[in-house]
Amino acid sequence: QVAFQNANGTETKSKPTKKTKVDYKARALGLRAQRENLPIYSARSAIISKVREHSTVVIVGETGSGKTTQIPQYLLESGFTTYGQTCIAVTQPRRVAATSIAKRVSEEVGTPLGARVGYTIRFEDCSSEKTQLKFCTDGLLLREILSDPLLRRYTVVVLDEAHERTLRTDILLGMLKDIQRERKRVAELNAEAERTQHNEYSDSRNSRATGTHIKFTDEAEDDQPPIGEAVVDSVYGDVTGIGELKIIVMSATLDAERFSEYFDQAPILYVAGRQFPVTTYFTTQPQSDYLDAAHLTVLQIHTETPSTSGDILVFLSGQEDIENVERLLRESAAQFPKGVPHLLPCPIFAALPQAQQSLVFEPAPEFTRKVILATNIAETSLTIPGIRHVVDSGVHKVRGFDPRIGESLLVEPISKSSARQRTGRAGREAAGFCYRLYTEADFAQLDEDSVPEIKRCQLSMVVLQLKAAGVNDILKFDFMDRPSKRALKHALLELYALEALDDKGELTQLGRWMSEFPLEPTYSKVIYASQKLGCTREVIDIVSLLSVDSLFYIPADKREESNAAQMTFRSKDGDHLTYLNLLRAYNKVNGDREWCHEHYVNRRNMRHVLDVREQLNRLCTRLSLDTSKSCGAELDAVLKCFLSGFFHNCALLQPDGSYKSLSGSQTVHIHPGSSMFSKKVPAIFYDQLVFTNKLHARAVSAADPLWIAQASPKLYGRISQL
Ligand code: ADP
Ligand code: MG
Repeated sequence: QVAFQNANGTETKSKPTKKTKVDYKARALGLRAQRENLPIYSARSAIISKVREHSTVVIVGETGSGKTTQIPQYLLESGFTTYGQTCIAVTQPRRVAATSIAKRVSEEVGTPLGARVGYTIRFEDCSSEKTQLKFCTDGLLLREILSDPLLRRYTVVVLDEAHERTLRTDILLGMLKDIQRERKRVAELNAEAERTQHNEYSDSRNSRATGTHIKFTDEAEDDQPPIGEAVVDSVYGDVTGIGELKIIVMSATLDAERFSEYFDQAPILYVAGRQFPVTTYFTTQPQSDYLDAAHLTVLQIHTETPSTSGDILVFLSGQEDIENVERLLRESAAQFPKGVPHLLPCPIFAALPQAQQSLVFEPAPEFTRKVILATNIAETSLTIPGIRHVVDSGVHKVRGFDPRIGESLLVEPISKSSARQRTGRAGREAAGFCYRLYTEADFAQLDEDSVPEIKRCQLSMVVLQLKAAGVNDILKFDFMDRPSKRALKHALLELYALEALDDKGELTQLGRWMSEFPLEPTYSKVIYASQKLGCTREVIDIVSLLSVDSLFYIPADKREESNAAQMTFRSKDGDHLTYLNLLRAYNKVNGDREWCHEHYVNRRNMRHVLDVREQLNRLCTRLSLDTSKSCGAELDAVLKCFLSGFFHNCALLQPDGSYKSLSGSQTVHIHPGSSMFSKKVPAIFYDQLVFTNKLHARAVSAADPLWIAQASPKLYGRISQL
């Protein structure tokens, strides 16, 4: 049992078991009634008129008030886009949010997904030329700026979840501000032309302009003969028909002034939410294992409150946590005595297949209680109906950056403001309960807010994108929060070492190619190198395999069996080739369920791998790479390719048997799950560092020191002395 005390200090082992009914009735009234019942509905006309009056509007509203699903629809209904011509973009920091919200909104609008309402995320485009409301990730819109510097197709960009301050949101803020200014200038040019031109021309001009603009890609644009009466701008060429760009910044937390200031005192609209009281409990003792504590707490809630008292939402740090707790819960649930309602774990995280993601939104079957196991995604991005109990692990996974060790993933305590958001999820529909798996004293120690990502992560990908978008002096870019000079310099240096920038800091041809690739520059470099070395097929396979958290299940009580099963695939050269062996074996048996079970292979993740692989193949083909190039059994080429991107992620064996990172002399431990664990080779390279209690390298392979030197002569020329 996990002992809790409530926020007032009284200790409680079990919670009060008040009987309440989940309000399914309102849902039955249909989506229309549901929409009109949202807090934001009464603000509809105020929002629309503010957007008409101002270029930028900041909207603040509590999670669940209807910002994400309703505001885009209000804009649509109020004629902010023209069918077949223009579009409204709504950005989300997370893929899962973009897809599931698009699905919901298309249901509310009453059209098939991908038609009037659609989404586009990396590797997946579910939209058409007719799409008027497009949900996308912030990273994707950034990418669109590269091919369409004025974002001509869009009349409005809604930046959702701005309070999260992800790296890409921050960059997007800066770029949109710039685009807005340019569009205003161009719109004035158009208005001027409008005034001086004959009326009879304007009609035909408008229709022609829109007809061509929609299909324009930037290459085609250069070849296009100028349209007779087109308005021509010295920088952008034909700008006929381009109007002002509206920006709406949406946030779930109150500190909206910063956004307002950044956009020249844009007006802020506050939308009142609906929040019922939530009783909060802390553990009396710190928990050494929050997964175990989460598992036990869910069982406690389930056995001590009637299942009709609402579903349970558990916040965990990532996919691995979620799958562990899911398994624990399934095992426990299998042993429930007769008469105890069923417990249905519903995981939600980015790599989860679409069909399973929608499960969290469906009402539980009779005599069943849902337990939603979620990452941060459920904190503010997604509102899941029916939740009355929240279990908060108090941690999340974040990207951290230290110039000495590069980027790593860290499981870190959340901020107070996150903790409060999580608690709030229990009180959306009625009074609820929140169980924090940490003590009140620990809570008091938490930071008030999380640090914006831009101040704490690797910047090479965004620097590359900024460069490709023509922002030459990165140091002068209008950042809302300025990243440290050190981090920027590190990014420039890395891009230089990757040969994406030349010694003047200008984009090389390779750099431009890499910027088109929706992967971290390290990976795009590896794929690029694979063409020359003739192993693109293998490299794409491995990059896809690296896109998931875990390929194997390692149950705590079957560690040895699992390890033994993994041995079947083991390559002496390390994890990259081991994974490749796994994929080949998996394909041979067609992903057979029984086979996966016997070999402790995570079938769900393998299916995601195949998905990513297919998309990568398609993308490479579009960028004129030959994806059929294969090196057969000559697998050294594959390792060399990886080193051409991952020369920063290398460590050398020390006389005492430890590995020290090449870039910062930090001790790097090989993850116990790795095939290189306890092996001693002169040098290793790894995909990623994960910081738990020490620095662990994940996906590790042996590297020939000479190859490291060859991989980046610019950086490691001097290593030849090794
Ligand atoms: P906000 O963006 O302000 O947090 P949303 O627009 O995401 O709010 O959600 C508004 C309401 O729509 C929520 O209260 C929720 O009940 C409902 N909702 C959103 N998505 C779904 C979905 N996929 N299924 C059922 N209801 C949903
Ligand atoms: Mg929202």
